[in-house]
Amino acid sequence: EWSAFDEAEDAVEDGSDGDRTPQPVLAVVGRPNVGKSTLVNRLLGRREAVVQDTPGVTRDRVAYDALWNGRRFTVVDTGGWDPGAQGLQAAVTAQAEMAMSTADVVLLVVDAQVGATETEEAVARVLRRSDRPVLMAANKVDDQRTQAEAAALWSLGLGEPYPVSGLHGRGSGDLLDRVLEVLPTSPRDQFSTTGGPRRVALVGKPNVGKSSLLNRLVGEKRAVVDEAAGTTVDPVDSMVELDGEVWRFVDTAGLRKRVKYAGGTEYYASLRTKAAIEAAEVAIVLVDASEPLTEQDLRVIGMVIEAGRALVIAYNKWDLVDDERRRKLNKEIDRQLVRARWAQRVNVSAATGRAVTKLAPALRDALESWDRRVPTGQLNAWLSDLVAAQPPPVRGGKQPKILFATQAHPRPPTLVLFSTGFLEAGYRRFVERKFRETFGFEGSPVRVSVRVRA
Ligand code: GDP
Ligand code: GDP
Repeated sequence: EWSAFDEAEDAVEDGSDGDRTPQPVLAVVGRPNVGKSTLVNRLLGRREAVVQDTPGVTRDRVAYDALWNGRRFTVVDTGGWDPGAQGLQAAVTAQAEMAMSTADVVLLVVDAQVGATETEEAVARVLRRSDRPVLMAANKVDDQRTQAEAAALWSLGLGEPYPVSGLHGRGSGDLLDRVLEVLPTSPRDQFSTTGGPRRVALVGKPNVGKSSLLNRLVGEKRAVVDEAAGTTVDPVDSMVELDGEVWRFVDTAGLRKRVKYAGGTEYYASLRTKAAIEAAEVAIVLVDASEPLTEQDLRVIGMVIEAGRALVIAYNKWDLVDDERRRKLNKEIDRQLVRARWAQRVNVSAATGRAVTKLAPALRDALESWDRRVPTGQLNAWLSDLVAAQPPPVRGGKQPKILFATQAHPRPPTLVLFSTGFLEAGYRRFVERKFRETFGFEGSPVRVSVRVRA
């Protein structure tokens, strides 16, 4: 059973766990020289060798992104072993065990020209216990004549052997179709980039200047298009043109009309804020720069992070900020905004119009990070250096081993570390910090979760 451990602060169940479902993993196992690398290359649709196998040389487990029929998944070539140390059979069996515990689907590759050896028999015994789907590729079926040899592999008790030729590509499409049939479906993308203007929530505690800022933004460009013909714009949203681009500011009806909600207790205001954040892709959290930051400000920022939305912090009323206040403000930011150090800050004044043109570029940067995905190969190269320099701390007498990582999805960017043991929150934060140092992701929250065999 997989269990997912997320950052404690992210662990609040909101019932929308589909958002966290990582990209499914296909692990490829088999003896050396059966053609695993060749087949993986074929499945990935590229010509160049992924890894040139040198017999007897330990190579690391490698993971790649695959795309077939519009579905993304990760292919792991479980190559890392040392046959010398434990014998071939033990090594391949261990590899299969590892695959069963880390992958969603296991693909055993057999050389059909050689047939089932003792090693395959041993691996099949292990794989028959798997609670995940196991597929078998009968490789090196280069032509019709070897077809019969593939059929002989039924004897392994793993179901139908799929005849393929990694070298020539024969049968690989059918094999991928079959992989997709048994692979768990990838998460639905809640936000479509092609679905019109990007959605922005303008939020903050009462009296920070939300209405004033929205009126300023709308006033600068007389291009409020919320009554645009033929569009089904939710009447509570405003379409605002900023810096040559139309943005959809969600749930702004009250702001625009300067209506303060009847019975607007803090509780309802907070529900409304939460709903706006959920409906948006990026949030501008407005704070009053002329006053000390309050709990309420931090709570709104926390809501954005927990919802996994991109974030821009706008310090409003900058016209009221003098030198003394500015010094205090810098200290406040250092001390209180640790959780959102990655967010861009823009100092604006809704009253004078100062720097409001900086909002659109900040929104764009934040969304770019939010949308971004680091390819699995690049991520694992980075991770192996990181883990070598700073391995996860021993826990309960055991040293957890991180096997590989994948960025399961963007929006928000979510890393999934596949590990043999639980990784402490402190280590996951360290991973996040290092990840940001290398890859950036300014303006977007980044989640680090761990998948462990329980
Ligand atoms: P791995 O050790 O399992 O990763 O195997 P490789 O992919 O390195 O392949 C081992 C050898 O088998 C290489 O010489 C390949 O060219 C050859 N090979 C791989 N696939 C096929 C195939 O479909 N047909 C034939 N005839 N040879 C293959
Ligand atoms: P909301 O409750 O967040 O929508 O805040 P409002 O837009 O209603 O603004 C609250 C008060 O702050 C009003 O009196 C505004 O005139 C004032 N205000 C808003 N923005 C600024 C600003 O940039 N500078 C100054 N000096 N006052 C502002």
